[in-house]
Amino acid sequence: MHDIMAWMEEHKQDIINDLKELVAIESPSLDKAAVDRLSGYLEGLFKGAGAHTEFLRRADRGDILRLEWGQGREAGQTLVLSHMDTVFAIGDIAKNPIRIADGRMYGPGTSDMKAGFVLFLWALRCMQELGLEPRRKVVGLLTSDEEVGSEASRDVIEEEARRSAVALVTEPAMPPTGALKTWRKGTAGYQLHVTGKPAHAGADPTKGISAVEELAHQILKLQKLTDMAVGTTVNVGVISGGSRSNVVAAEAYADIDVRFMTMAEAGRIEGIIKGLQPVVPGARLRVAGGINRPPMVRNEATVALFEQARTLASELGFTVGEAGTGGGSDGNFTSGAGCPTIDGLGAVGDGLHTFEEYVAVDSLPQRAALMVRMLQEA
Ligand SMILES: [Zn+2]
Repeated sequence: MHDIMAWMEEHKQDIINDLKELVAIESPSLDKAAVDRLSGYLEGLFKGAGAHTEFLRRADRGDILRLEWGQGREAGQTLVLSHMDTVFAIGDIAKNPIRIADGRMYGPGTSDMKAGFVLFLWALRCMQELGLEPRRKVVGLLTSDEEVGSEASRDVIEEEARRSAVALVTEPAMPPTGALKTWRKGTAGYQLHVTGKPAHAGADPTKGISAVEELAHQILKLQKLTDMAVGTTVNVGVISGGSRSNVVAAEAYADIDVRFMTMAEAGRIEGIIKGLQPVVPGARLRVAGGINRPPMVRNEATVALFEQARTLASELGFTVGEAGTGGGSDGNFTSGAGCPTIDGLGAVGDGLHTFEEYVAVDSLPQRAALMVRMLQEA
């Protein structure tokens, strides 16, 4: 164990250099050419670390880089899940340049999650150089569209998860403590369309049916579905409606975000939203949308994985706590597919999805060493 930690500390500057290089290859989710440029470069790095690689081609999103590494002491496979895409645009790096200050590396996507697959890469390099075998064959998926809902990669993720004994997700650790994530809420999105009847607001007010008034009733009903005690949130985040102030509104619209801890609760809330009834006489409601990501549930298998990670980290000389979040990741899909999942194995940092995003550089060798130990033992 000391060998692994010492090896990583020795290579700390190399890890930092790799991270700088990969942050510099900007990779917005919706820019296929940019994400493909990154995966093309990464393929060479992972091959150099002894991985067998293949591209799973995608038409509208970046190609997925799939890799296999090692024989494994046991049958089966361990899945490592990273995403290459970021929420940032091409050119953001000019406004938010890569820089290190007070032990923090700033730059677009440093933490979420370029450090995640850099740590994975260095874990494999370490195992290659020290001659360490993983517990099972390692299968890595570097996906291209996590930040926009993983539509193009969900099937592949779930398929690999069903074949895997465990899934290790290299999303950033819980800011700022570095805790691992044993649960994530599931997510759903709904669109509520309200239809009323237009009329002259001054001359013929009684002939109209106000879609805006109807929506106002529904917004309050929806917001009241939030129940923090069971971890359910319902957020009407976007509304629109009407055409002019002197016209009774014919149309109105709301965009709704729902988060939940269990599929049962997701079904309950969906039943309520899809069953909404109009309050204003004559108004009509139409609901579209549904469940996106199932919850990553804090079950026995996940808790066992966390306990193992905590023990391995303390043997390496640092501590990791346990946390959960309302934000989804591809760990939701692996967990939903029945694969024991631990998330937040990436770097420690904060400011995700903003120009304040950073990685604590001291955490890089630690987390890479923990990844090695998890691949050996989990
Ligand atoms: Zn991420």
